[in-house]
Amino acid sequence: MKAIVKTAEGPGHLELRDVPEPPPPGPGEVKIQVEAAGICGSDLHIQKGDIGIPIRPPFILGHEFAGRLVEMGPDVTGWQVGDRVTAENTRIACGRCPSCLTGSYNLCGKRLATGYAFDGAFARYCVVPAIRLHRLPDTVDFESGALTDPSACVYHAIQDGRGIQAGETVLITGAGAMGLFSVQYAKANGARVLLTGLERSRPRLALGLELGADQVVVTDREALAPIIDDFTDGLGVDVALECSGAESAANQCLQFLRTQGRFTQIGIYGAPIRLDLDQVVYKEIQLTGSFSQKNLAWQGALRFQALGLVKAAPLISDRLSIDQWSEGFHRFATGQAIKVVFNRFE
Ligand SMILES: [Zn+2]
Ligand SMILES: [Zn+2]
Repeated sequence: MKAIVKTAEGPGHLELRDVPEPPPPGPGEVKIQVEAAGICGSDLHIQKGDIGIPIRPPFILGHEFAGRLVEMGPDVTGWQVGDRVTAENTRIACGRCPSCLTGSYNLCGKRLATGYAFDGAFARYCVVPAIRLHRLPDTVDFESGALTDPSACVYHAIQDGRGIQAGETVLITGAGAMGLFSVQYAKANGARVLLTGLERSRPRLALGLELGADQVVVTDREALAPIIDDFTDGLGVDVALECSGAESAANQCLQFLRTQGRFTQIGIYGAPIRLDLDQVVYKEIQLTGSFSQKNLAWQGALRFQALGLVKAAPLISDRLSIDQWSEGFHRFATGQAIKVVFNRFE
């Protein structure tokens, strides 16, 4: 089968290779025929060589996927061949550290993930532990199901995090997949949402409006301060969700939060940034981060999708064959694509 393989550490070293099909699933494992797999921002960081999550080259990339269960390991119960599934990317966690013992295995220091340290889903087949599987609701197709991973990241950031109350004002910086999912979760909670992005992401901002944002701002064209003033009656926003991984956006979040506002960092910078942390002191801002997700966030994200509160399909701008991988990575990296999904494999 053809697979997108990271062949070595460092920048680049990404290629489409012919690799053998995975061996039959072992105890506790299942084999999935991949029907759809999305490129994630962290795949770009793997390509660039600045990913902060352990990788073990050579490995097949791809951790946002959905497909059909085609083979089960000897002791797997509760599943059947033919089941429509998606799977968490956490593959191994130690089970003994404080994070694991409190259910936050996404934060385990020994966590190793599918598509990073184990072969992932940018190929026809992949093998994953059955305990990481989630059944796709009937109303969620494979392509939307493949985006459960980023949707669950935002579920974890918002629903598992400090939450959003109905009527609160929310500033979301960055109109990529994380920002566009954040818009939908914030609206599902009854918030008023202001989404920001750059001129080059105008089409994404337009999609943000379609998905429920109350207002969008092109921050390299418009002054944000008077707009936020107007949006919040001069109070500042209750909640900021930083989804862009851009230093200027992070500082805007600090600047425009109200006193005791809540700041959640979702985007990744890939390098240290300069941040005006005095704002955190003067305004007693509650600053927190959100990383990956865990089982209940996946269940929640799929429930939100099944209920139609969160839609993944509108985010998919490009549906490509795995042969077109470099075009897909390029279009995603340059912002021409919102979300690229591979849906044809060989
Ligand atoms: Zn991802
Ligand atoms: Zn652990």
